Amino acid sequence: MADCLFCRIARKEIPANILYEDRLVTAFADIHPQAPVHVLIIPKAHFDTLNDVTAEEQQLLGHIVLAATRVAGEQGLRDQGYRLVANCQASAGQSVFHVHFHLLGGRNFQWPPG
Ligand code: 5GP
Ligand code: ZN
Repeated sequence: MADCLFCRIARKEIPANILYEDRLVTAFADIHPQAPVHVLIIPKAHFDTLNDVTAEEQQLLGHIVLAATRVAGEQGLRDQGYRLVANCQASAGQSVFHVHFHLLGGRNFQWPPG
C-alpha cells in the first residue's frame, strides 16, 4: 500500500534499522523499544490485520516465525528466551495496520500481559 508506514519501511523509503530481510519478510528494530531487544517482523506484502491473512498465506506465516527465531538466535536470545507476539485490532494494542510480530527479549516478562 502506497502510504502504509511499514510498506514504506519494507521498500526502504523510510529508514529503519533492518536486522534481517529476505524475499518475503523484513525485520527491523522497533522505534520505541519495550525491551532490550525489540524487533518487528513484517511480511513485505500488506495485510491490515491477522484477520486478513488466509490459508493461502500459511507458508508465509511459517516463514515469519522462522525469521523471528533466526533473529532471536542472532540476538543471543535462543537459550534465555523471548516473546513473539502479534496484536490484532486496536483493543489488543495494534496501532500500525500492517501485520507485524513483535520479538521481545533481554528482560523478564509478566503473564498475563496488560
Ligand atoms: P502495534 O502497536 O501496532 O502492535 O506495534 C507497532 C509498533 O511499531 C510499535 O511498537 C511502535 O513503536 C512501532 N513503530 C511505529 N512507528 C515506527 C517507525 O516509524 N519505525 C519503527 N522502527 N517502528 C515504529
Ligand atoms: Zn503496509
